[in-house]
Amino acid sequence: MTSEQLWNAALGELELNLSKANFTTWFKNTAIVLYEGHKVVIGVPNTFTKVWLEKKYHQAILKTLQQLTDRNIKEVHYQVEQSPFVRKTLGIPEPTPDITQKTVVLTPGASSHTATTSTRTGLNPRYTFETYVVGKGNELAHAAALAVAAKPGSAYNPLLIYGGVGLGKTHLLQSIGNRLIQAGKRVLYVTSETFANDFIHAVKSGEARKFQETYRNVDVLLIDDIQFISGKEGTQEAFFHTFNELQQSNKQIVISSDRPPSAIGALESRLRSRLHQGMIADISPLDFETRIAILNTKLQERQFPLPEEVVHYLGTIIQNNVREMEGALNKIIAMHQLKNIDLTLESIKRILAPLANAPARRSIVPRTIIETVAEFFDVKVEDLAGKSREKRLAHPRQIIMYLMREELKASFPAIGHELGGRDHTTAMHACSKIAEDIELDTKLKQDIQYIKERLYNQ
Ligand code: ADP
Ligand code: MG
Repeated sequence: MTSEQLWNAALGELELNLSKANFTTWFKNTAIVLYEGHKVVIGVPNTFTKVWLEKKYHQAILKTLQQLTDRNIKEVHYQVEQSPFVRKTLGIPEPTPDITQKTVVLTPGASSHTATTSTRTGLNPRYTFETYVVGKGNELAHAAALAVAAKPGSAYNPLLIYGGVGLGKTHLLQSIGNRLIQAGKRVLYVTSETFANDFIHAVKSGEARKFQETYRNVDVLLIDDIQFISGKEGTQEAFFHTFNELQQSNKQIVISSDRPPSAIGALESRLRSRLHQGMIADISPLDFETRIAILNTKLQERQFPLPEEVVHYLGTIIQNNVREMEGALNKIIAMHQLKNIDLTLESIKRILAPLANAPARRSIVPRTIIETVAEFFDVKVEDLAGKSREKRLAHPRQIIMYLMREELKASFPAIGHELGGRDHTTAMHACSKIAEDIELDTKLKQDIQYIKERLYNQ
Protein backbone atom coordinates (compact mmCIF):
# COMPACT_ATOMS: atom_id res chain seq x y z
CA MET A 1 0.00 0.00 0.00
CA THR A 2 1.42 3.45 -0.85
CA SER A 3 1.35 6.15 1.80
CA GLU A 4 -1.31 7.89 -0.20
CA GLN A 5 -3.61 4.88 -0.27
CA LEU A 6 -3.02 4.35 3.40
CA TRP A 7 -3.89 7.92 4.29
CA ASN A 8 -6.97 7.89 2.06
CA ALA A 9 -8.21 4.79 3.78
CA ALA A 10 -7.44 6.27 7.20
CA LEU A 11 -9.28 9.47 6.31
CA GLY A 12 -12.22 7.38 5.22
CA GLU A 13 -12.32 5.65 8.60
CA LEU A 14 -11.76 8.80 10.63
CA GLU A 15 -14.48 10.62 8.77
CA LEU A 16 -16.98 8.03 9.88
CA ASN A 17 -16.22 8.68 13.53
CA LEU A 18 -15.98 12.46 13.59
CA SER A 19 -18.41 15.25 13.01
CA LYS A 20 -18.20 16.67 9.53
CA ALA A 21 -17.06 20.01 10.90
CA ASN A 22 -14.22 18.52 12.90
CA PHE A 23 -13.16 16.28 10.13
CA THR A 24 -12.93 19.06 7.56
CA THR A 25 -11.24 21.49 9.89
CA TRP A 26 -8.53 19.22 11.19
CA PHE A 27 -7.88 16.85 8.35
CA LYS A 28 -8.06 19.25 5.44
CA ASN A 29 -4.65 19.70 3.86
CA THR A 30 -3.02 16.80 5.62
CA ALA A 31 -1.03 14.03 4.04
CA ILE A 32 1.42 11.34 4.96
CA VAL A 33 4.78 12.86 4.12
CA LEU A 34 6.83 9.93 5.32
CA TYR A 35 5.98 6.26 5.75
CA GLU A 36 8.98 4.22 6.70
CA GLY A 37 9.12 1.00 8.65
CA HIS A 38 7.00 1.43 11.75
CA LYS A 39 6.87 5.18 11.48
CA VAL A 40 4.51 7.62 9.84
CA VAL A 41 4.88 11.39 9.62
CA ILE A 42 1.81 13.40 8.84
CA GLY A 43 2.26 16.78 7.20
CA VAL A 44 -0.10 19.49 8.42
CA PRO A 45 -0.59 23.09 7.27
CA ASN A 46 0.09 24.93 10.53
CA THR A 47 1.14 24.62 14.15
CA PHE A 48 -2.37 24.94 15.41
CA THR A 49 -3.48 21.88 13.50
CA LYS A 50 -0.38 20.05 14.68
CA VAL A 51 -1.13 20.75 18.32
CA TRP A 52 -4.76 19.88 17.90
CA LEU A 53 -4.08 16.58 16.17
CA GLU A 54 -1.51 15.65 18.80
CA LYS A 55 -3.78 16.58 21.63
CA LYS A 56 -7.14 15.41 20.44
CA TYR A 57 -6.85 12.93 17.64
CA HIS A 58 -3.56 11.15 18.11
CA GLN A 59 -5.08 8.00 19.59
CA ALA A 60 -7.74 7.77 16.90
CA ILE A 61 -5.19 8.30 14.14
CA LEU A 62 -2.77 5.78 15.56
CA LYS A 63 -5.47 3.20 16.07
CA THR A 64 -6.82 3.62 12.57
CA LEU A 65 -3.40 3.36 10.99
CA GLN A 66 -2.63 0.27 13.03
CA GLN A 67 -5.83 -1.40 11.98
CA LEU A 68 -5.13 -0.70 8.36
CA THR A 69 -1.58 -2.03 8.52
CA ASP A 70 -2.13 -5.05 10.74
CA ARG A 71 -0.48 -3.26 13.65
CA ASN A 72 2.64 -2.50 11.70
CA ILE A 73 2.69 1.19 12.56
CA LYS A 74 4.01 2.05 16.00
CA GLU A 75 4.81 5.73 15.80
CA VAL A 76 2.96 8.68 14.37
CA HIS A 77 4.44 12.16 14.25
CA TYR A 78 3.13 15.45 12.96
CA GLN A 79 5.07 18.04 11.06
CA VAL A 80 4.22 21.48 9.78
CA GLU A 81 4.93 21.85 6.10
CA GLN A 82 6.72 25.08 5.48
CA SER A 83 5.80 27.82 3.07
CA PRO A 84 8.18 28.95 0.31
CA PHE A 85 9.04 32.05 2.26
CA VAL A 86 9.90 30.35 5.51
CA ARG A 87 12.04 27.88 3.62
CA LYS A 88 13.88 30.73 2.02
CA THR A 89 14.57 32.67 5.19
CA LEU A 90 15.57 29.58 7.09
CA GLY A 91 17.89 28.68 4.27
CA ILE A 92 16.19 25.35 3.65
CA PRO A 93 17.17 24.40 0.13
CA GLU A 94 14.37 24.45 -2.37
CA PRO A 95 13.87 21.52 -4.62
CA THR A 96 15.23 22.25 -8.07
CA PRO A 97 12.58 24.12 -10.04
CA ASP A 98 11.37 21.22 -12.08
CA ILE A 99 11.07 18.78 -9.27
CA THR A 100 7.98 19.51 -7.31
CA GLN A 101 7.74 18.30 -3.81
CA LYS A 102 5.16 15.79 -2.90
CA THR A 103 3.16 17.50 -0.27
CA VAL A 104 0.06 18.59 1.42
CA VAL A 105 -2.62 19.53 -1.04
CA LEU A 106 -4.37 16.40 -0.04
CA THR A 107 -7.74 17.64 0.98
CA PRO A 108 -10.04 14.87 2.02
CA GLY A 109 -11.66 15.49 -1.30
CA ALA A 110 -8.55 15.52 -3.39
CA SER A 111 -7.00 12.50 -1.89
CA SER A 112 -6.82 9.82 -4.48
CA HIS A 113 -4.82 12.05 -6.77
CA THR A 114 -1.13 12.43 -6.53
CA ALA A 115 -0.97 15.92 -5.20
CA THR A 116 2.20 17.71 -6.09
CA THR A 117 2.57 21.32 -5.19
CA SER A 118 5.48 23.40 -6.24
CA THR A 119 7.14 24.90 -3.18
CA ARG A 120 8.24 27.79 -5.36
CA THR A 121 4.90 28.97 -6.70
CA GLY A 122 2.44 27.26 -4.40
CA LEU A 123 0.73 25.87 -7.49
CA ASN A 124 -0.64 22.40 -7.87
CA PRO A 125 -0.81 21.44 -11.55
CA ARG A 126 -3.90 19.40 -10.89
CA TYR A 127 -6.11 22.48 -10.68
CA THR A 128 -6.65 23.83 -14.18
CA PHE A 129 -9.38 25.41 -16.26
CA GLU A 130 -9.47 22.19 -18.23
CA THR A 131 -10.61 20.22 -15.20
CA TYR A 132 -13.06 22.84 -13.97
CA VAL A 133 -16.69 22.15 -14.77
CA VAL A 134 -18.70 25.27 -15.54
CA GLY A 135 -22.38 25.46 -14.73
CA LYS A 136 -25.07 27.51 -13.07
CA GLY A 137 -23.59 28.92 -9.91
CA ASN A 138 -19.99 29.34 -11.01
CA GLU A 139 -20.19 30.74 -14.55
CA LEU A 140 -19.55 34.34 -13.58
CA ALA A 141 -16.54 33.54 -11.42
CA HIS A 142 -15.21 31.24 -14.10
CA ALA A 143 -15.59 33.87 -16.82
CA ALA A 144 -13.88 36.50 -14.70
CA ALA A 145 -11.04 34.11 -13.93
CA LEU A 146 -10.59 33.34 -17.63
CA ALA A 147 -10.53 37.04 -18.46
CA VAL A 148 -7.86 37.66 -15.85
CA ALA A 149 -5.79 34.76 -17.11
CA ALA A 150 -6.03 36.18 -20.63
CA LYS A 151 -5.12 39.75 -19.67
CA PRO A 152 -3.49 39.82 -16.27
CA GLY A 153 -3.21 43.22 -14.67
CA SER A 154 -5.71 44.85 -16.94
CA ALA A 155 -9.03 43.07 -17.11
CA TYR A 156 -10.14 43.10 -13.51
CA ASN A 157 -7.75 44.09 -10.81
CA PRO A 158 -8.13 42.91 -8.14
CA LEU A 159 -10.42 40.04 -8.86
CA LEU A 160 -12.19 38.78 -5.76
CA ILE A 161 -13.93 35.44 -5.88
CA TYR A 162 -16.18 34.57 -3.00
CA GLY A 163 -18.39 31.64 -2.20
CA GLY A 164 -19.02 28.91 0.35
CA VAL A 165 -16.57 26.26 1.39
CA GLY A 166 -15.70 23.61 -1.18
CA LEU A 167 -17.25 25.37 -4.17
CA GLY A 168 -14.12 25.70 -6.24
CA LYS A 169 -12.51 29.01 -5.28
CA THR A 170 -9.07 27.55 -4.77
CA HIS A 171 -9.43 25.59 -7.96
CA LEU A 172 -10.11 28.80 -9.90
CA LEU A 173 -7.24 30.73 -8.33
CA GLN A 174 -4.89 27.90 -9.08
CA SER A 175 -6.18 27.63 -12.64
CA ILE A 176 -5.32 31.25 -13.24
CA GLY A 177 -1.88 30.66 -11.78
CA ASN A 178 -1.20 27.54 -13.79
CA ARG A 179 -2.23 29.18 -17.03
CA LEU A 180 -0.08 32.23 -16.40
CA ILE A 181 2.95 30.17 -15.43
CA GLN A 182 2.65 28.60 -18.87
CA ALA A 183 2.70 32.09 -20.32
CA GLY A 184 5.99 32.75 -18.55
CA LYS A 185 4.65 34.95 -15.76
CA ARG A 186 5.98 34.93 -12.24
CA VAL A 187 3.17 33.62 -10.09
CA LEU A 188 2.84 33.20 -6.36
CA TYR A 189 -0.07 31.45 -4.66
CA VAL A 190 -0.48 31.57 -0.89
CA THR A 191 -3.28 31.40 1.61
CA SER A 192 -3.72 34.51 3.71
CA GLU A 193 -2.69 32.38 6.65
CA THR A 194 0.66 31.69 5.06
CA PHE A 195 0.97 35.34 4.17
CA ALA A 196 0.32 36.26 7.81
CA ASN A 197 2.78 33.67 9.12
CA ASP A 198 5.43 34.85 6.71
CA PHE A 199 4.87 38.40 7.75
CA ILE A 200 5.12 37.60 11.46
CA HIS A 201 8.19 35.53 10.83
CA ALA A 202 9.74 38.36 8.81
CA VAL A 203 9.12 40.88 11.56
CA LYS A 204 10.54 38.60 14.23
CA SER A 205 13.66 37.74 12.31
CA GLY A 206 14.28 41.18 10.85
CA GLU A 207 13.71 39.90 7.34
CA ALA A 208 11.26 42.52 6.17
CA ARG A 209 13.17 43.08 2.94
CA LYS A 210 13.06 39.46 1.99
CA PHE A 211 9.38 39.41 2.72
CA GLN A 212 8.85 42.32 0.36
CA GLU A 213 10.98 40.71 -2.29
CA THR A 214 9.05 37.49 -2.09
CA TYR A 215 5.70 39.11 -2.40
CA ARG A 216 6.39 42.06 -4.65
CA ASN A 217 8.59 40.47 -7.26
CA VAL A 218 5.74 38.71 -8.97
CA ASP A 219 3.45 39.37 -11.89
CA VAL A 220 0.53 37.62 -10.33
CA LEU A 221 -0.26 37.27 -6.64
CA LEU A 222 -3.00 34.84 -5.67
CA ILE A 223 -4.20 35.11 -2.08
CA ASP A 224 -6.57 32.41 -0.96
CA ASP A 225 -9.03 32.68 1.92
CA ILE A 226 -8.49 36.34 2.72
CA GLN A 227 -11.03 36.13 5.55
CA PHE A 228 -8.30 34.80 7.84
CA ILE A 229 -6.58 38.14 7.72
CA SER A 230 -9.40 39.76 9.66
CA GLY A 231 -8.34 41.17 12.99
CA LYS A 232 -4.64 40.84 12.23
CA GLU A 233 -3.75 44.48 11.92
CA GLY A 234 -0.06 44.22 11.17
CA THR A 235 -0.73 41.67 8.48
CA GLN A 236 -3.45 43.79 6.93
CA GLU A 237 -1.06 46.69 6.81
CA ALA A 238 1.57 44.55 5.10
CA PHE A 239 -1.02 43.28 2.69
CA PHE A 240 -2.24 46.76 1.92
CA HIS A 241 1.25 47.89 0.96
CA THR A 242 1.93 44.81 -1.09
CA PHE A 243 -1.38 45.31 -2.78
CA ASN A 244 -0.69 48.96 -3.65
CA GLU A 245 2.74 48.25 -4.94
CA LEU A 246 1.53 45.49 -7.22
CA GLN A 247 -1.52 47.32 -8.43
CA GLN A 248 0.46 50.42 -9.27
CA SER A 249 2.75 48.43 -11.48
CA ASN A 250 -0.19 46.69 -13.14
CA LYS A 251 0.47 43.35 -11.58
CA GLN A 252 -2.52 41.12 -11.13
CA ILE A 253 -4.00 40.34 -7.74
CA VAL A 254 -6.61 37.65 -7.27
CA ILE A 255 -8.20 37.01 -3.92
CA SER A 256 -10.69 34.51 -2.61
CA SER A 257 -12.93 34.71 0.40
CA ASP A 258 -15.66 32.56 1.88
CA ARG A 259 -17.78 35.68 2.47
CA PRO A 260 -18.30 39.00 0.74
CA PRO A 261 -15.86 41.69 1.90
CA SER A 262 -18.61 43.48 3.81
CA ALA A 263 -19.03 40.41 5.97
CA ILE A 264 -15.38 40.02 6.89
CA GLY A 265 -15.33 41.43 10.39
CA ALA A 266 -12.36 43.55 11.41
CA LEU A 267 -11.23 44.17 7.89
CA GLU A 268 -9.71 47.61 7.61
CA SER A 269 -12.00 49.85 5.67
CA ARG A 270 -9.31 50.98 3.26
CA LEU A 271 -8.66 47.37 2.41
CA ARG A 272 -12.34 46.69 1.99
CA SER A 273 -12.76 49.61 -0.34
CA ARG A 274 -9.79 48.40 -2.39
CA LEU A 275 -11.47 45.06 -2.83
CA HIS A 276 -14.57 46.81 -4.05
CA GLN A 277 -12.63 48.69 -6.69
CA GLY A 278 -12.00 45.61 -8.71
CA MET A 279 -14.31 42.86 -9.83
CA ILE A 280 -16.24 40.78 -7.33
CA ALA A 281 -17.61 37.47 -8.56
CA ASP A 282 -19.45 35.01 -6.41
CA ILE A 283 -19.92 31.27 -6.65
CA SER A 284 -23.29 30.08 -5.45
CA PRO A 285 -24.26 26.49 -4.70
CA LEU A 286 -24.34 24.44 -7.88
CA ASP A 287 -27.46 23.02 -9.45
CA PHE A 288 -28.07 19.30 -9.81
CA GLU A 289 -26.91 19.04 -13.46
CA THR A 290 -23.62 20.73 -12.65
CA ARG A 291 -23.07 18.51 -9.65
CA ILE A 292 -23.61 15.41 -11.76
CA ALA A 293 -21.29 16.75 -14.45
CA ILE A 294 -18.59 17.33 -11.85
CA LEU A 295 -19.00 13.85 -10.41
CA ASN A 296 -18.71 12.31 -13.85
CA THR A 297 -15.59 14.33 -14.58
CA LYS A 298 -13.98 13.20 -11.33
CA LEU A 299 -14.84 9.58 -12.04
CA GLN A 300 -13.28 9.89 -15.45
CA GLU A 301 -10.13 11.44 -13.99
CA ARG A 302 -9.86 8.54 -11.60
CA GLN A 303 -10.88 6.03 -14.25
CA PHE A 304 -13.37 4.54 -11.88
CA PRO A 305 -16.81 4.10 -13.39
CA LEU A 306 -19.84 4.00 -11.09
CA PRO A 307 -23.43 3.10 -11.97
CA GLU A 308 -25.55 6.09 -12.92
CA GLU A 309 -27.95 5.59 -10.02
CA VAL A 310 -25.05 5.84 -7.60
CA VAL A 311 -23.85 9.05 -9.20
CA HIS A 312 -27.35 10.49 -8.93
CA TYR A 313 -27.56 9.42 -5.33
CA LEU A 314 -24.31 11.27 -4.57
CA GLY A 315 -25.53 14.34 -6.42
CA THR A 316 -28.67 14.29 -4.32
CA ILE A 317 -27.26 13.80 -0.84
CA ILE A 318 -24.41 16.29 -1.24
CA GLN A 319 -25.59 19.64 -2.44
CA ASN A 320 -23.40 22.42 -1.20
CA ASN A 321 -19.87 21.29 -1.37
CA VAL A 322 -17.86 19.77 -4.19
CA ARG A 323 -15.11 18.79 -1.81
CA GLU A 324 -17.55 16.58 0.04
CA MET A 325 -18.61 14.97 -3.19
CA GLU A 326 -14.98 14.15 -3.87
CA GLY A 327 -14.62 12.89 -0.32
CA ALA A 328 -17.52 10.52 -0.83
CA LEU A 329 -16.00 9.25 -4.08
CA ASN A 330 -12.68 8.69 -2.38
CA LYS A 331 -14.29 6.78 0.37
CA ILE A 332 -16.14 4.56 -2.07
CA ILE A 333 -12.97 3.93 -4.03
CA ALA A 334 -10.90 3.20 -0.93
CA MET A 335 -13.53 0.87 0.50
CA HIS A 336 -13.76 -0.91 -2.81
CA GLN A 337 -10.01 -1.33 -3.12
CA LEU A 338 -9.29 -2.20 0.47
CA LYS A 339 -12.37 -4.01 1.63
CA ASN A 340 -13.69 -5.18 -1.65
CA ILE A 341 -17.22 -3.85 -1.14
CA ASP A 342 -19.38 -3.96 -4.22
CA LEU A 343 -20.59 -0.91 -6.02
CA THR A 344 -24.32 -1.29 -5.80
CA LEU A 345 -26.55 1.52 -4.63
CA GLU A 346 -27.42 -0.48 -1.52
CA SER A 347 -23.89 -1.00 -0.26
CA ILE A 348 -22.91 2.54 -1.14
CA LYS A 349 -25.83 3.92 0.80
CA ARG A 350 -24.56 2.02 3.78
CA ILE A 351 -21.04 3.40 3.49
CA LEU A 352 -22.29 6.91 3.12
CA ALA A 353 -24.98 6.83 5.78
CA PRO A 354 -23.12 9.22 8.09
CA LEU A 355 -22.87 11.74 5.26
CA ALA A 356 -26.47 11.47 4.18
CA ASN A 357 -27.73 12.03 7.70
CA ALA A 358 -25.28 14.71 8.71
CA PRO A 359 -26.85 18.00 9.63
CA ALA A 360 -26.31 20.90 7.27
CA ARG A 361 -23.49 23.31 7.92
CA ARG A 362 -24.19 25.12 11.14
CA SER A 363 -24.83 28.80 11.00
CA ILE A 364 -23.45 30.76 13.85
CA VAL A 365 -25.79 30.96 16.80
CA PRO A 366 -24.96 31.40 20.51
CA ARG A 367 -24.81 27.65 20.90
CA THR A 368 -22.11 27.40 18.20
CA ILE A 369 -19.97 29.89 20.07
CA ILE A 370 -20.41 28.08 23.37
CA GLU A 371 -19.55 24.72 21.84
CA THR A 372 -16.54 26.01 19.97
CA VAL A 373 -15.09 27.75 23.01
CA ALA A 374 -15.80 24.72 25.20
CA GLU A 375 -13.97 22.52 22.76
CA PHE A 376 -11.08 24.92 22.53
CA PHE A 377 -10.56 25.05 26.29
CA ASP A 378 -11.51 21.45 26.80
CA VAL A 379 -14.29 22.14 29.26
CA LYS A 380 -17.89 20.94 29.36
CA VAL A 381 -20.69 23.02 27.91
CA GLU A 382 -22.85 22.36 31.00
CA ASP A 383 -20.08 23.58 33.28
CA LEU A 384 -19.89 26.83 31.36
CA ALA A 385 -23.56 27.46 31.99
CA GLY A 386 -23.19 26.33 35.61
CA LYS A 387 -22.53 28.21 38.82
CA SER A 388 -18.87 27.49 39.44
CA ARG A 389 -16.51 30.46 39.29
CA GLU A 390 -13.35 28.44 38.90
CA LYS A 391 -10.86 30.24 36.71
CA ARG A 392 -10.71 27.41 34.18
CA LEU A 393 -14.42 28.10 33.54
CA ALA A 394 -14.62 31.82 34.20
CA HIS A 395 -12.14 32.71 31.50
CA PRO A 396 -13.77 30.76 28.64
CA ARG A 397 -17.11 32.08 29.82
CA GLN A 398 -15.92 35.65 29.42
CA ILE A 399 -14.62 34.88 25.97
CA ILE A 400 -17.99 33.45 25.01
CA MET A 401 -19.72 36.60 26.18
CA TYR A 402 -17.31 38.75 24.27
CA LEU A 403 -17.76 36.74 21.08
CA MET A 404 -21.55 36.78 21.34
CA ARG A 405 -21.39 40.53 21.58
CA GLU A 406 -18.83 40.99 18.82
CA GLU A 407 -19.95 38.38 16.35
CA LEU A 408 -23.70 38.20 16.95
CA LYS A 409 -24.35 41.69 18.30
CA ALA A 410 -26.34 40.03 21.05
CA SER A 411 -27.78 42.17 23.82
CA PHE A 412 -26.25 41.91 27.31
CA PRO A 413 -29.38 40.41 28.87
CA ALA A 414 -29.54 37.84 26.04
CA ILE A 415 -25.90 36.94 26.60
CA GLY A 416 -26.49 36.46 30.32
CA HIS A 417 -29.47 34.30 29.55
CA GLU A 418 -27.52 32.02 27.19
CA LEU A 419 -24.99 31.33 29.92
CA GLY A 420 -27.24 29.90 32.55
CA GLY A 421 -29.20 33.03 33.40
CA ARG A 422 -26.40 35.34 34.47
CA ASP A 423 -27.03 39.00 35.13
CA HIS A 424 -26.60 41.45 32.27
CA THR A 425 -24.01 43.42 34.26
CA THR A 426 -21.84 40.29 34.36
CA ALA A 427 -22.00 40.13 30.59
CA MET A 428 -21.15 43.82 30.28
CA HIS A 429 -18.20 43.44 32.56
CA ALA A 430 -16.92 40.38 30.68
CA CYS A 431 -17.15 42.06 27.29
CA SER A 432 -15.27 45.16 28.33
CA LYS A 433 -12.68 43.14 30.22
CA ILE A 434 -11.86 40.93 27.24
CA ALA A 435 -11.92 43.92 24.89
CA GLU A 436 -9.32 45.59 27.11
CA ASP A 437 -7.18 42.54 27.75
CA ILE A 438 -7.00 41.66 24.11
CA GLU A 439 -5.05 44.84 23.45
CA LEU A 440 -2.27 43.82 25.81
CA ASP A 441 -2.34 40.07 25.79
CA THR A 442 -1.16 38.57 22.52
CA LYS A 443 -1.88 35.03 23.65
CA LEU A 444 -5.48 35.95 24.34
CA LYS A 445 -5.71 37.72 21.03
CA GLN A 446 -4.40 34.69 19.23
CA ASP A 447 -6.74 32.33 21.08
CA ILE A 448 -9.70 34.43 20.07
CA GLN A 449 -8.49 34.57 16.51
CA TYR A 450 -8.22 30.78 16.40
CA ILE A 451 -11.65 30.37 17.89
CA LYS A 452 -13.10 32.70 15.28
CA GLU A 453 -11.43 30.77 12.52
CA ARG A 454 -13.00 27.63 13.89
CA LEU A 455 -16.36 29.31 14.14
CA TYR A 456 -16.45 30.41 10.58
CA ASN A 457 -14.76 27.41 9.18
CA GLN A 458 -16.89 24.55 10.26
P1 ADP B 1 -12.94 26.14 -2.07
O1 ADP B 1 -11.58 26.73 -2.27
O2 ADP B 1 -14.02 27.01 -2.61
O3 ADP B 1 -13.21 25.71 -0.68
P2 ADP B 1 -11.89 24.08 -3.78
O4 ADP B 1 -11.43 24.89 -4.93
O5 ADP B 1 -10.83 23.60 -2.86
O6 ADP B 1 -13.02 24.83 -2.95
O7 ADP B 1 -12.74 22.86 -4.33
C1 ADP B 1 -12.94 21.68 -3.59
C2 ADP B 1 -12.73 20.50 -4.49
O8 ADP B 1 -13.78 20.46 -5.43
C3 ADP B 1 -11.45 20.58 -5.28
O9 ADP B 1 -10.85 19.33 -5.34
C4 ADP B 1 -11.89 21.06 -6.64
O10 ADP B 1 -11.06 20.54 -7.66
C5 ADP B 1 -13.28 20.51 -6.75
N1 ADP B 1 -14.16 21.41 -7.52
C6 ADP B 1 -14.86 22.46 -7.07
N2 ADP B 1 -15.58 23.04 -8.05
C7 ADP B 1 -15.31 22.33 -9.16
C8 ADP B 1 -15.75 22.42 -10.51
N3 ADP B 1 -16.60 23.37 -10.91
N4 ADP B 1 -15.27 21.51 -11.38
C9 ADP B 1 -14.42 20.55 -10.98
N5 ADP B 1 -13.97 20.40 -9.74
C10 ADP B 1 -14.41 21.27 -8.81
MG1 MG C 1 -10.12 26.99 -0.84
